[in-house]
Amino acid sequence: MQNAISLLGSTGSIGRQTLEVAELLGLRVRALTANKNIALLEEQTRKFRPAVVAVFDDYAAHDFRARVRDTDVRVVSGMDGLVEAATIEGADTVVTAVVGTAGLLPTLAAIGLGRRIALANKETLVCAGDIVINRARAYGADIIPVDSEHSALFQCLAGQYPVIGGEHPAPGKQTAPFIDNGSQYPSVNGCIKKLILTASGGPFRGMNRADLQNVTPEMALRHPNWSMGQKVTIDSATMMNKGLEVIEAMHLFGVPPGKIEVVVHPESIIHSMVEFADSSVIAQLSVPDMRLPIQYALTYPERVPSLATRLDITRHASLTFEQPDLDAFPCLGLAFETVKINGTACAVLNAANEAAVGLFLGGKLNFYGISDSVRAALENIENIEDPTLDDVISADNAAREFVNKSAGSPSA
Ligand code: NAD
Ligand code: MG
Repeated sequence: MQNAISLLGSTGSIGRQTLEVAELLGLRVRALTANKNIALLEEQTRKFRPAVVAVFDDYAAHDFRARVRDTDVRVVSGMDGLVEAATIEGADTVVTAVVGTAGLLPTLAAIGLGRRIALANKETLVCAGDIVINRARAYGADIIPVDSEHSALFQCLAGQYPVIGGEHPAPGKQTAPFIDNGSQYPSVNGCIKKLILTASGGPFRGMNRADLQNVTPEMALRHPNWSMGQKVTIDSATMMNKGLEVIEAMHLFGVPPGKIEVVVHPESIIHSMVEFADSSVIAQLSVPDMRLPIQYALTYPERVPSLATRLDITRHASLTFEQPDLDAFPCLGLAFETVKINGTACAVLNAANEAAVGLFLGGKLNFYGISDSVRAALENIENIEDPTLDDVISADNAAREFVNKSAGSPSA
């Protein structure tokens, strides 16, 4: 069980639920961060009394300072502020719940101190997976997934990871996924046949291309099973979310992309499954409630009572599964192609998508404008294999610029 956390992105969906879990577990909160929702951030600050609060937006930080003048909290801003919050002394775990590439530098900084990363911010691994994982190995920092599918896979794999030296870990002493040695895909490759990621299918499951031409952001924001931030909700509607999760799984579990499959499971009860070499399949089930994977990342390897309601399996007599429709949801196919290329292509996919989702939400692109923008960015921006961090940041910037410019051009 961890004692104290730093929480990046405390005002978001994962951030708010993390604070519920922290309160239940009695964890100290050493730092909070947000982009600009300072009203909620003030409430959280007064309740959890962190030593540092980072407000990314400079103007909002200025206003926030005035609001909490009567407290002794230190208010910082910008990317330096996020990094300061991520590396605050006394926090053993950093929960990365910001959305988008903004999570990358603070996560790398926390890894550099060997802190446990409870990783919700999947974009970090998508844009710079090799860099993040190699750094975590070098500094002995555990990365424990919060994303429900990856938490499920992690739970299904508990006990399967060999410890360094080749012995089987004692119960409760399994190493985190990336802590392993050896070749390109070291971990448990030998015993894994497939990682099977489940997908709800989002609000547009079963619809075809013609139906989807004119869907609006309001329609895309109505997710059937999960209440999440806007960006990840749109990603769920396009199924790019599952594509990003395929890339996230490849890095986290050290398996080649050919071993990762996606299956649509509309009930969101099975959160993912592992098929082993002997054809045995282990699945993790629960009601859909993010507080459960958040808590597991904070208590691992222990389990304690959580805020999630019990799964009454008799009320879910029918669990259904279907193949994803790659024609109606081309973002998923794009991600499957990109993960094979790896290099900066994943950073381009991720950043182009982030920019295109912003344009879709602002009414400047239609639904298929998102996948078209991502495809065009991938075709136009050169891939760099085995990139440095600077290469990743340049590719990320180039992709955003490309998408925003194309959308602004008369032919768009
Ligand atoms: P959200 O939009 O609800 O919250 C995002 C948080 O990040 C907010 O606190 C916001 O203030 C902060 N933020 C936004 N832009 C920022 C910037 N430029 N710099 C610093 N901070 C910034 O998002 P969410 O739904 O909580 O998702 C957070 C992350 O977790 C995403 O990467 C998402 O893919 C992942 N995730 C979310 C869920 C879920 O159920 N919500 C499930 C799995 C994974
Ligand atoms: Mg997920």
